[in-house]
Amino acid sequence: NNSERPADLLLINGQIYTQDDALQQVEALAISDGKIVAAGSSRELMAWQGDSTKILDLTQRVVLPGFTDSHIHPISAGLRILSCDLSELRDETAILQTIREYARTHPENDWIKGGGLWLPAVGGGNPSRYLLDSLVADRPVYLTSTDGHSAWVNSKALELAQINADTKDPTGGVIERQPDGEPSGVLREYAMRLVSRLIPPQSFTEKVQALELAMHEAHRVGVTAWIDAAVDEESIKAYLELERQGKLKLDVSLSLLTEIIKGMDAVAEVEALYQRYQAQAQRINMHSTKILIDGVIEGKTAALFDNYTGEDFRGEPYIDAELYQQMIAAYDSLGFQVHVHACGDRAVSMTLDAFEYAQAQHGKSDHRHHIVHLQLMKEKDIPRFAELDLTANLQTLWATPEDTYISELTIPVLGPQRSEWIYPFGAIARTGARIACGSDWPVTSVNPFPALQVAVSRRGPDSLKRTPWTPQHLLSRQAVVSGYTIGGAYLMNQDTHRGRLCPGMDASLIVLDQDVFHLPTNHLYQIKPVLTLWRGEPVFSAID
Ligand SMILES: [Zn+2]
Repeated sequence: NNSERPADLLLINGQIYTQDDALQQVEALAISDGKIVAAGSSRELMAWQGDSTKILDLTQRVVLPGFTDSHIHPISAGLRILSCDLSELRDETAILQTIREYARTHPENDWIKGGGLWLPAVGGGNPSRYLLDSLVADRPVYLTSTDGHSAWVNSKALELAQINADTKDPTGGVIERQPDGEPSGVLREYAMRLVSRLIPPQSFTEKVQALELAMHEAHRVGVTAWIDAAVDEESIKAYLELERQGKLKLDVSLSLLTEIIKGMDAVAEVEALYQRYQAQAQRINMHSTKILIDGVIEGKTAALFDNYTGEDFRGEPYIDAELYQQMIAAYDSLGFQVHVHACGDRAVSMTLDAFEYAQAQHGKSDHRHHIVHLQLMKEKDIPRFAELDLTANLQTLWATPEDTYISELTIPVLGPQRSEWIYPFGAIARTGARIACGSDWPVTSVNPFPALQVAVSRRGPDSLKRTPWTPQHLLSRQAVVSGYTIGGAYLMNQDTHRGRLCPGMDASLIVLDQDVFHLPTNHLYQIKPVLTLWRGEPVFSAID
C-alpha cells in the first residue's frame, strides 16, 4: 500500500526506455530503498508522493538502465589518470605544459611517470631529452607513447639507468642517439625496459585510489556495473578494500586471470584464489576467470586458419586444443564463468570447440561464458554462439577503418577477402546470439556513446563518410543498448534484478542529454549522461 510507504524519489515527465521485454516506454518511476517500486505515467505515480519524497522533473529527457561495461581494466585506467596522462593531447604546447604542471603539482613523486604521449606532436616523433630537462630536471621522467612502443625520458632518467654513448642497443630495442653517440631521449621497444625497470611499482594505496578514480570516470559516462577483465590477487584486495570503506558504488564481477601456459595448474590456482577471497566480499562476484588463447592480429600474434598475407606463418594459440578443452571443462564443472580473449579466426573456432566439448562432458551449465574481441571469424562459426548459448562480448568502437589499427595493421595482413569478416558483429546478432559490450579501457575510451555510433555506422565517431564499412556487420541501436544493459546484467548473473527499469529492479539508471534512439547517427557520440543513479543513489550529476 503506497499511501503507507511513500517513495524516496519520483522521476516524472521523462521518456523512460524501460528495456523490458515489450520495450515499453513510460513517463515516470517511483524509487524506494534503491529499487524501482512503480513505473507508469507521471499522474499515476504522484500517488507515491509523501512528505519526504524528492521529485525530479526530467523535462522530457531520456532515461535508460545504467550501462554494464563487460570488458574493462579499471585499475590500469585509474593509474593512467593518476600519472601524467597525456592521452587527449595532440599539440606540443599543451603536452609540454601538462608535463610541467604535473611535475609542479606532484612534488612528492620521486619519478614522473606518464602515458598516452602523441609522439608525432613533439620533436617530429623523436624529441630531445633537453626539451624534457627544461620542464623537469630534478627528477627522472618516463613518458610512454600512445602505442606503447616508445618512451621519452629526460637526462636524469638516462643517468640513473647508466645509459650513455657506450651503452649498446639491447636485443629488440633501440636507443635513439645524438650525432656524438650519446642517448638523445627516446627509447624504443625493449630499450624502454632499461629505464622502466627502475621505476618503483605502484603501491597498494595507489591502486585503491586508481580504482576509485576509474569508478568516478565510469559513472560520468553512464557505467554502473563492470566486469574487470584481468584480475590478480592484489587487484582483488584493492576491490575488497574499497568495498570495506563503503566506497565501491557499482556492481562488479572480477574475471580472475588464468596463466594459461601453466595448464591445469592455473585452474587450481584460480580456484584457490576464489576460495580464499570470495567469502570476504559483500557483493563483488569473483566466480569468473579470464583466459587469453592468442594475441592480436595487428601484432601478427593472433591464431589464424591461414597465413598472414605475405608471411609464412599463421600465428599460434598459447596452448594446444586438447589441453584447452580440458581447462574449460574443468572451469565449467567448478562453476566458473569463462571469459575468453580470442582474436584470430582459429582461436575463436578452438574456443567454440572447447565450450562444445565442456557441454558434451556434463551438459549445459548456466555459467554464462563469453568470448571477447572476435577480431576475425570464419563464416561457419558465426551460428555457434547462439547454438552453444554463449555471449559475444563486443568492443564496437574498434570496428572502423578510420582506426589506423584496422586500415594499416589489420586489413593489409589479412587481405580483402578475409577482411569481410573482421568484427562480424551484425552477422552474430542476426543469429539471435546474446551480445554484451565493453570498452577495454584504458586501451580505448570508457565512453559507450562513441562505441554506439561506430557500431551502427562502421565509421569513426567524427568521420564525414556516411557509407558504412562492411555494412553486413552493422548493429541496430537497440541491439547495442541491449548489449550494454540486459546483456551485461545477464553476464554478471544479475538479469533478474537489474538491466531493465521495471518494478522490483535496481534503480541503476542514466538520464541522457539527448535521445539515443532518435538523434542523427553522426551525433550519437556526443550524448552525455546528466545524471547517473546506482541503486537509487546519485553517483554522478550535472544537474543542479
Ligand atoms: Zn582487455
